[in-house]
Amino acid sequence: MMAPVRPVIVAGNWKMHTTPTEAAALARSIAVVIDEPTVTRVLCPPFVALGSVAGALVGTGVAVGAQNVHHEASGAHTGEISAAMLEGLATWVICGHSERRREACETDDLIGRKVARALEHGLRPILAVGETSDQRDAGDAARVVERQLEGAATALRAAGGDPTGPAAASLVVAYEPVWAIGTGRTAHGVDAAAMADLIRMTLASVGWASADDVPVLYGGSVTAASAAEFLAEPSLDGALVGGASLKPDEMAGIVARASLTARARSETAAARRTR
Ligand code: PEP
Repeated sequence: MMAPVRPVIVAGNWKMHTTPTEAAALARSIAVVIDEPTVTRVLCPPFVALGSVAGALVGTGVAVGAQNVHHEASGAHTGEISAAMLEGLATWVICGHSERRREACETDDLIGRKVARALEHGLRPILAVGETSDQRDAGDAARVVERQLEGAATALRAAGGDPTGPAAASLVVAYEPVWAIGTGRTAHGVDAAAMADLIRMTLASVGWASADDVPVLYGGSVTAASAAEFLAEPSLDGALVGGASLKPDEMAGIVARASLTARARSETAAARRTR
Protein backbone atom coordinates (compact mmCIF):
# COMPACT_ATOMS: atom_id res chain seq x y z
CA MET A 1 0.00 0.00 0.00
CA MET A 2 1.29 3.45 -0.89
CA ALA A 3 1.94 5.95 1.90
CA PRO A 4 -0.66 8.74 1.89
CA VAL A 5 0.20 12.10 0.35
CA ARG A 6 -1.29 14.60 2.70
CA PRO A 7 -1.91 18.24 1.75
CA VAL A 8 0.16 21.01 3.32
CA ILE A 9 -1.98 23.49 5.24
CA VAL A 10 -1.21 26.88 6.79
CA ALA A 11 -4.01 28.35 8.89
CA GLY A 12 -3.87 31.72 10.62
CA ASN A 13 -5.79 32.26 13.85
CA TRP A 14 -6.31 35.98 14.38
CA LYS A 15 -7.87 35.48 17.83
CA MET A 16 -9.51 38.66 19.19
CA HIS A 17 -7.72 41.03 16.83
CA THR A 18 -9.03 43.24 14.00
CA THR A 19 -12.31 45.02 13.37
CA PRO A 20 -14.23 43.97 10.24
CA THR A 21 -12.67 46.82 8.25
CA GLU A 22 -9.14 46.12 9.49
CA ALA A 23 -9.62 42.40 8.89
CA ALA A 24 -10.64 42.86 5.24
CA ALA A 25 -7.59 45.05 4.57
CA LEU A 26 -5.28 42.61 6.35
CA ALA A 27 -6.77 39.62 4.51
CA ARG A 28 -6.19 41.38 1.18
CA SER A 29 -2.56 42.18 2.08
CA ILE A 30 -1.88 38.63 3.20
CA ALA A 31 -3.62 36.98 0.23
CA VAL A 32 -1.33 38.81 -2.20
CA VAL A 33 1.84 37.53 -0.54
CA ILE A 34 0.68 33.93 0.01
CA ASP A 35 -0.43 33.28 -3.57
CA GLU A 36 0.79 29.67 -3.53
CA PRO A 37 -1.92 27.23 -4.61
CA THR A 38 0.14 24.15 -3.67
CA VAL A 39 -0.53 25.10 -0.05
CA THR A 40 -4.02 25.06 1.48
CA ARG A 41 -4.30 28.51 3.09
CA VAL A 42 -6.91 29.49 5.66
CA LEU A 43 -7.48 32.71 7.60
CA CYS A 44 -9.59 32.63 10.76
CA PRO A 45 -10.71 36.15 11.74
CA PRO A 46 -13.11 36.97 14.60
CA PHE A 47 -16.78 36.08 13.96
CA VAL A 48 -17.79 39.65 13.21
CA ALA A 49 -15.16 39.91 10.48
CA LEU A 50 -16.03 36.67 8.67
CA GLY A 51 -18.24 38.48 6.14
CA SER A 52 -15.76 41.21 5.30
CA VAL A 53 -12.88 38.73 5.07
CA ALA A 54 -14.90 36.31 2.93
CA GLY A 55 -15.59 39.20 0.55
CA ALA A 56 -11.95 40.29 0.53
CA LEU A 57 -10.72 36.78 -0.27
CA VAL A 58 -13.04 36.02 -3.20
CA GLY A 59 -10.93 34.75 -6.10
CA THR A 60 -7.71 34.47 -4.07
CA GLY A 61 -7.87 30.74 -3.29
CA VAL A 62 -7.50 31.53 0.42
CA ALA A 63 -10.23 29.97 2.56
CA VAL A 64 -12.00 31.43 5.57
CA GLY A 65 -12.28 29.72 8.94
CA ALA A 66 -14.14 30.51 12.14
CA GLN A 67 -12.41 30.28 15.51
CA ASN A 68 -15.25 28.45 17.25
CA VAL A 69 -18.76 27.08 16.78
CA HIS A 70 -21.56 26.15 19.17
CA HIS A 71 -22.29 22.46 19.67
CA GLU A 72 -26.09 22.83 19.48
CA ALA A 73 -27.89 23.37 16.18
CA SER A 74 -29.88 26.37 17.48
CA GLY A 75 -31.71 27.52 20.57
CA ALA A 76 -31.50 29.74 23.63
CA HIS A 77 -27.73 30.25 23.69
CA THR A 78 -27.23 33.99 23.95
CA GLY A 79 -24.15 35.27 22.18
CA GLU A 80 -23.34 31.97 20.49
CA ILE A 81 -22.86 31.13 16.80
CA SER A 82 -24.18 27.94 15.19
CA ALA A 83 -22.66 25.89 12.38
CA ALA A 84 -25.60 26.78 10.11
CA MET A 85 -24.86 30.49 10.64
CA LEU A 86 -21.30 29.93 9.43
CA GLU A 87 -22.33 28.35 6.14
CA GLY A 88 -21.53 30.74 3.30
CA LEU A 89 -19.11 32.68 5.50
CA ALA A 90 -16.57 30.04 6.44
CA THR A 91 -15.55 26.58 5.26
CA TRP A 92 -13.25 25.76 8.19
CA VAL A 93 -13.61 26.00 11.95
CA ILE A 94 -11.18 25.66 14.85
CA CYS A 95 -12.58 23.45 17.62
CA GLY A 96 -11.06 23.15 21.09
CA HIS A 97 -8.37 25.81 20.94
CA SER A 98 -6.54 25.78 24.31
CA GLU A 99 -7.59 29.38 24.97
CA ARG A 100 -11.21 28.23 24.81
CA ARG A 101 -10.49 25.14 26.89
CA ARG A 102 -8.96 27.48 29.51
CA GLU A 103 -11.15 30.60 29.31
CA ALA A 104 -14.50 29.05 28.38
CA CYS A 105 -13.93 25.76 30.28
CA GLU A 106 -14.51 23.73 27.13
CA THR A 107 -14.25 20.00 27.79
CA ASP A 108 -13.32 17.17 25.42
CA ASP A 109 -16.97 16.16 25.42
CA LEU A 110 -18.15 19.62 24.35
CA ILE A 111 -15.38 19.88 21.77
CA GLY A 112 -16.30 16.50 20.27
CA ARG A 113 -19.86 17.74 19.90
CA LYS A 114 -18.59 20.87 18.14
CA VAL A 115 -16.63 18.66 15.73
CA ALA A 116 -19.79 16.61 15.10
CA ARG A 117 -21.78 19.77 14.38
CA ALA A 118 -19.09 21.14 12.08
CA LEU A 119 -18.95 17.90 10.07
CA GLU A 120 -22.74 17.80 9.83
CA HIS A 121 -22.65 21.22 8.15
CA GLY A 122 -19.73 20.49 5.82
CA LEU A 123 -17.33 22.70 7.78
CA ARG A 124 -13.78 21.35 7.98
CA PRO A 125 -12.82 21.12 11.65
CA ILE A 126 -9.32 21.85 12.94
CA LEU A 127 -9.35 20.04 16.27
CA ALA A 128 -6.73 21.54 18.58
CA VAL A 129 -5.07 19.31 21.17
CA GLY A 130 -2.03 19.68 23.38
CA GLU A 131 -0.63 19.44 26.85
CA THR A 132 0.19 22.12 29.45
CA SER A 133 3.74 22.54 30.74
CA ASP A 134 2.82 20.83 34.04
CA GLN A 135 1.42 17.85 32.14
CA ARG A 136 4.56 17.68 29.98
CA ASP A 137 6.86 17.93 33.02
CA ALA A 138 4.91 15.11 34.66
CA GLY A 139 5.53 12.91 31.59
CA ASP A 140 1.82 12.95 30.68
CA ALA A 141 1.91 14.75 27.32
CA ALA A 142 1.10 11.70 25.20
CA ARG A 143 -1.66 10.50 27.51
CA VAL A 144 -3.27 13.96 27.60
CA VAL A 145 -3.39 14.18 23.82
CA GLU A 146 -4.74 10.62 23.53
CA ARG A 147 -7.44 11.44 26.08
CA GLN A 148 -8.42 14.61 24.21
CA LEU A 149 -8.82 12.68 20.96
CA GLU A 150 -10.63 9.73 22.54
CA GLY A 151 -12.96 12.13 24.38
CA ALA A 152 -13.76 13.99 21.19
CA ALA A 153 -14.44 10.74 19.30
CA THR A 154 -16.73 9.45 22.07
CA ALA A 155 -18.68 12.72 22.14
CA LEU A 156 -18.93 12.76 18.37
CA ARG A 157 -20.43 9.26 18.42
CA ALA A 158 -22.81 10.21 21.24
CA ALA A 159 -23.95 13.21 19.19
CA GLY A 160 -24.88 10.89 16.32
CA GLY A 161 -21.71 11.59 14.32
CA ASP A 162 -19.81 8.78 12.66
CA PRO A 163 -16.02 8.93 13.02
CA THR A 164 -15.76 6.09 10.51
CA GLY A 165 -17.86 7.83 7.86
CA PRO A 166 -16.67 9.81 4.84
CA ALA A 167 -17.46 13.21 6.40
CA ALA A 168 -15.07 12.49 9.29
CA ALA A 169 -12.21 12.14 6.80
CA SER A 170 -12.16 15.94 6.49
CA LEU A 171 -10.79 16.29 10.03
CA VAL A 172 -7.55 18.17 10.60
CA VAL A 173 -5.79 18.01 13.97
CA ALA A 174 -3.54 20.75 15.30
CA TYR A 175 -1.00 19.69 17.89
CA GLU A 176 -0.55 22.81 19.99
CA PRO A 177 1.41 22.36 23.21
CA VAL A 178 -0.15 24.95 25.50
CA TRP A 179 3.23 26.10 26.82
CA ALA A 180 4.25 27.08 23.28
CA ILE A 181 1.20 29.22 22.44
CA GLY A 182 1.98 32.91 22.39
CA THR A 183 5.11 32.38 24.48
CA GLY A 184 7.82 32.52 21.83
CA ARG A 185 8.84 28.97 22.85
CA THR A 186 8.34 26.20 20.32
CA ALA A 187 8.38 22.43 20.55
CA HIS A 188 11.23 20.61 18.81
CA GLY A 189 10.27 19.48 15.32
CA VAL A 190 11.04 15.83 16.12
CA ASP A 191 8.89 15.91 19.27
CA ALA A 192 5.98 17.49 17.41
CA ALA A 193 6.37 14.90 14.64
CA ALA A 194 6.30 12.06 17.19
CA MET A 195 3.09 13.54 18.59
CA ALA A 196 1.63 13.69 15.06
CA ASP A 197 2.32 9.96 14.67
CA LEU A 198 0.67 9.30 18.02
CA ILE A 199 -2.34 11.39 16.98
CA ARG A 200 -2.89 9.31 13.83
CA MET A 201 -2.40 6.07 15.79
CA THR A 202 -4.95 7.20 18.37
CA LEU A 203 -7.42 8.16 15.65
CA ALA A 204 -6.93 4.73 14.07
CA SER A 205 -7.51 3.07 17.45
CA VAL A 206 -10.90 4.79 17.80
CA GLY A 207 -11.80 3.75 14.24
CA TRP A 208 -11.50 7.21 12.66
CA ALA A 209 -11.95 7.25 8.88
CA SER A 210 -8.67 7.27 6.93
CA ALA A 211 -6.66 8.03 10.08
CA ASP A 212 -3.36 7.89 8.16
CA ASP A 213 -4.59 10.63 5.86
CA VAL A 214 -5.60 13.06 8.62
CA PRO A 215 -3.36 16.13 8.35
CA VAL A 216 -1.68 17.12 11.60
CA LEU A 217 -0.50 20.71 11.96
CA TYR A 218 1.89 22.06 14.54
CA GLY A 219 0.92 25.23 16.41
CA GLY A 220 2.82 27.21 19.02
CA SER A 221 4.78 30.38 18.26
CA VAL A 222 5.41 29.43 14.62
CA THR A 223 7.11 32.21 12.65
CA ALA A 224 8.76 32.46 9.25
CA ALA A 225 12.05 31.76 11.03
CA SER A 226 10.87 28.64 12.89
CA ALA A 227 8.51 27.15 10.26
CA ALA A 228 11.20 25.09 8.50
CA GLU A 229 11.82 22.96 11.59
CA PHE A 230 8.23 21.70 11.46
CA LEU A 231 7.67 21.66 7.72
CA ALA A 232 10.74 19.48 7.23
CA GLU A 233 9.07 16.71 9.24
CA PRO A 234 7.20 14.20 7.02
CA SER A 235 4.67 13.53 9.80
CA LEU A 236 3.67 17.20 10.07
CA ASP A 237 1.44 18.75 7.44
CA GLY A 238 1.62 22.44 8.14
CA ALA A 239 1.04 25.00 10.84
CA LEU A 240 -1.68 26.70 12.83
CA VAL A 241 -0.25 30.17 13.31
CA GLY A 242 -1.42 32.69 15.91
CA GLY A 243 0.49 35.93 16.48
CA ALA A 244 2.56 35.73 13.30
CA SER A 245 -0.56 35.31 11.16
CA LEU A 246 -1.37 38.99 11.72
CA LYS A 247 1.82 39.96 9.86
CA PRO A 248 1.85 39.64 6.05
CA ASP A 249 5.66 39.22 5.92
CA GLU A 250 5.57 36.38 8.42
CA MET A 251 2.72 34.63 6.60
CA ALA A 252 4.58 35.06 3.32
CA GLY A 253 7.66 33.36 4.78
CA ILE A 254 5.68 30.52 6.36
CA VAL A 255 3.66 29.78 3.21
CA ALA A 256 6.79 30.01 1.03
CA ARG A 257 8.45 27.35 3.20
CA ALA A 258 5.26 25.28 3.21
CA SER A 259 5.21 25.36 -0.60
CA LEU A 260 8.64 23.67 -0.68
CA THR A 261 7.21 20.78 1.32
CA ALA A 262 4.05 20.66 -0.81
CA ARG A 263 6.05 20.58 -4.05
CA ALA A 264 8.42 17.92 -2.74
CA ARG A 265 5.43 15.78 -1.72
CA SER A 266 3.75 16.07 -5.09
CA GLU A 267 7.01 15.27 -6.90
CA THR A 268 7.45 12.16 -4.75
CA ALA A 269 3.86 11.13 -5.47
CA ALA A 270 4.32 11.67 -9.22
CA ALA A 271 7.56 9.65 -9.21
CA ARG A 272 5.75 6.81 -7.38
CA ARG A 273 2.99 6.82 -9.98
CA THR A 274 5.44 6.46 -12.89
CA ARG A 275 7.32 3.59 -11.22
C1 PEP B 1 -2.68 29.67 18.12
O1 PEP B 1 -3.37 30.63 18.37
O2 PEP B 1 -3.21 28.61 17.76
C2 PEP B 1 -1.22 29.79 18.24
C3 PEP B 1 -0.49 28.72 17.98
O3 PEP B 1 -0.72 31.00 18.63
P1 PEP B 1 0.80 31.47 18.50
O4 PEP B 1 1.28 31.13 17.13
O5 PEP B 1 0.77 32.96 18.76
O6 PEP B 1 1.59 30.75 19.55
